[in-house]
Amino acid sequence: MKWTKYLIQTLRENPGDAEIDSHKLMVRAGLIKKMAGGLYTYLPLGMRALRKVQQIVREEMDRAGAQEIVMPILQPAELWKESGRWESMGPNMFKVKDRASHDYALAPTAEEAVTDVIRGIVSSYRQLPCTVYQIQWKFRDEIRPRFGLMRSKEFLMKDAYSFDVSMEAADASYMAMFNAYKKVFARCGLNAVPVEADTGDIGGKFSHEFHVLADAGEDGIAACECGYAANLEKAERKVQGAECGVHAVECGEIEKISTPNAKTIEEISKFMGEEPSQFVKTLVYVADGKTILCCVPGDYEVNEIKLKHLLDVKSLELAAPAIVEETTGAAVGFAGPVGAKVPVYADSSLEGAKGMIVGGNETDVHLKNVDLARDTKIEKFADLVIVRDGDICPKCGRPMKIKRGIEVGHVFKLGRKYTDAMKGVYKTNELKEETMIMGCYGIGVSRTMQAVIEQRHDKDGIIWPASVAPFQVVIENLDADKAEVTAVADELEAKLESAGIDVIVDDRAERPGVKFKDADLIGFPVRVVVGAKGLANGGVEIKRRDQDKSQTKIVAPADAFEAIKAALA
Ligand code: ATP
Ligand code: MG
Repeated sequence: MKWTKYLIQTLRENPGDAEIDSHKLMVRAGLIKKMAGGLYTYLPLGMRALRKVQQIVREEMDRAGAQEIVMPILQPAELWKESGRWESMGPNMFKVKDRASHDYALAPTAEEAVTDVIRGIVSSYRQLPCTVYQIQWKFRDEIRPRFGLMRSKEFLMKDAYSFDVSMEAADASYMAMFNAYKKVFARCGLNAVPVEADTGDIGGKFSHEFHVLADAGEDGIAACECGYAANLEKAERKVQGAECGVHAVECGEIEKISTPNAKTIEEISKFMGEEPSQFVKTLVYVADGKTILCCVPGDYEVNEIKLKHLLDVKSLELAAPAIVEETTGAAVGFAGPVGAKVPVYADSSLEGAKGMIVGGNETDVHLKNVDLARDTKIEKFADLVIVRDGDICPKCGRPMKIKRGIEVGHVFKLGRKYTDAMKGVYKTNELKEETMIMGCYGIGVSRTMQAVIEQRHDKDGIIWPASVAPFQVVIENLDADKAEVTAVADELEAKLESAGIDVIVDDRAERPGVKFKDADLIGFPVRVVVGAKGLANGGVEIKRRDQDKSQTKIVAPADAFEAIKAALA
């Protein structure tokens, strides 16, 4: 492939809307081009990298025994209504009508569609287990599409679905995918870690996300040396019983203190000269229409996902000011558990806490010397906080670290959620009808491609691993107007191509500096320089993108092919 014949546009300037390095680099290297918010064209270079990621995914899925299918993106509303997700997906789902006014969804995922396919084919236990997958475009009306392909409205996803006769068999299907994912990400040159995850909208029993650790990641992960790793949505901590307040000390009677205008924990702790951990933070929520209070230590935030699970409700939101006032009899900022008129749920670390300062349920008033056991009625103590750096690992007791991660893959054990709702059944060998057990497994293919760049770049550009690079080798022909130089470059190109190595020859009449800058920006793993001057001195230059200049090798043209192969290995 010749550069002058190829659609490449590199840019010196960062795009104005790009916040993270990988997004900037993808646009500058000419991999993608923005069409509108969250919508991108994959240019030839980007398309090549995307197809390589796809191919790795495909090979590992096939190897794990999954079978490739393709289902429609445009899916009839009826299927989504069967599971109840036509409503519950909310505004995240793009909905369209055909000319006869029939409703359709642009698939954001495909559990319903695949259950429909499989229930129409599988009737006997003999046909199970069965895992199918597709690599297909997905659509989500994200609230904030951003970071390029990381969170776009249209993206390429590999989604696989397993169907099994029992929970144990489903565990085996889950593990097969789990292990395949490890191989996929390793082959893409990514350091991706599996972390325990919440099951979100899809529901089901248990799940892991695969995260690429990077500062630009949108998710927080609690990780411990012992191997425990969990998304902050789900991460637990070990409570030792003395996290907050003065558990061990007897406290006197409750004292009212005037705290004018001190509403937030920060304001009140400054006002009183006490540590935030000495306070109880009380939030008013409306859960499925009922008002409740949630108490956590002053230096922690409520984990609303945990609270939602504890209450077993569909909807949970912070109460509007009017409801807060009605519930507490005070302005927003002074809610507390003492004398509460609605059920109070509190974080486990508050069990036994004494000497606490809490909101007084009276405007501009806080209460001191609160002994939670003595002075409050707590409906239930449970783990309700977002874990913080240094919190104790629930598995081994050592302190955990909080890291940032990009979710590139997700494996769920769904159980019977969809097969119950949609009658995905089979007959056992005793001809008894049973519901199939399902699992679902997603990889964000386009997000994975960008995650590679986020994890592998320097100030000059992308550093592709050979496995997913758009071209593995760039040959810089510095004297494309000289027949003898071009002959060497072209011969090398032909040899590499016939060995199945992707190569592009930069045959532009640009200054070497410009050509090298572009090569570094796009990030071809190996750069070969062929020029009249070099050849006169007996050689071509070979340099790996991930090594510096001092490691450049100069070899005779006849040895170049082997040297390039070695550099790629
Ligand atoms: P997120 O939490 O990042 O919104 P999700 O948990 O909603 O993602 P899943 O339903 O698990 O996503 O989808 C499977 C995979 O698809 C994700 O692991 C992610 O890699 C990818 N993905 C999801 N949403 C997007 C998006 N808007 N743009 C690009 N990739 C996405
Ligand atoms: Mg997910």
